[in-house]
Amino acid sequence: MGTYFQPVHIELLSHAVSMSEEIVSEYFSLTTEYWRKNPYEVKTLREERFLSLPHGVYAHLEKYGNNWDEKYYGADHRCLYRILVHDKRVLKTTGGRSPLIWPFFLYIMTHELIHMVRFAKFECAACIDDKEEEEKKVHVLTDNVLKRIKVPNIDVIIDFFNGKQVNLCMN
Ligand SMILES: [Zn+2]
Repeated sequence: MGTYFQPVHIELLSHAVSMSEEIVSEYFSLTTEYWRKNPYEVKTLREERFLSLPHGVYAHLEKYGNNWDEKYYGADHRCLYRILVHDKRVLKTTGGRSPLIWPFFLYIMTHELIHMVRFAKFECAACIDDKEEEEKKVHVLTDNVLKRIKVPNIDVIIDFFNGKQVNLCMN
């Protein structure tokens, strides 16, 4: 298994980003305007190989700027977000095969977007003082959001992230 995503994986990731945004928007009743005001970008390690992710995670949300275009929008708290996806870890876990990597991408993107929506709601990450508690909340929300959608193998991925013994590469 390679270190970086192949074009086919990047394409699936990009579809997963759009679909996650759609289902998160629906769940939290967010508009297109919301995403315009809370922009984010998704990067993989091929592009950002010098950035490090916390140990063991598949993806990670960062806030890397604020008050974007502040002069146009007034003094509100606008931030830029970046979601980093760890090519190697995702490839190792899913075997890089489309039937698994597609729901896997959907899961991790939905999870990170829910973090982002909650950060934006509380205006800054520092306001969420208990990170472990926040992680639990986001985890439960991710399950709730994804249980409503019909995507092959999403149930297997949900089980995987709930610590159930599923061998993804054998499916
Ligand atoms: Zn998380």
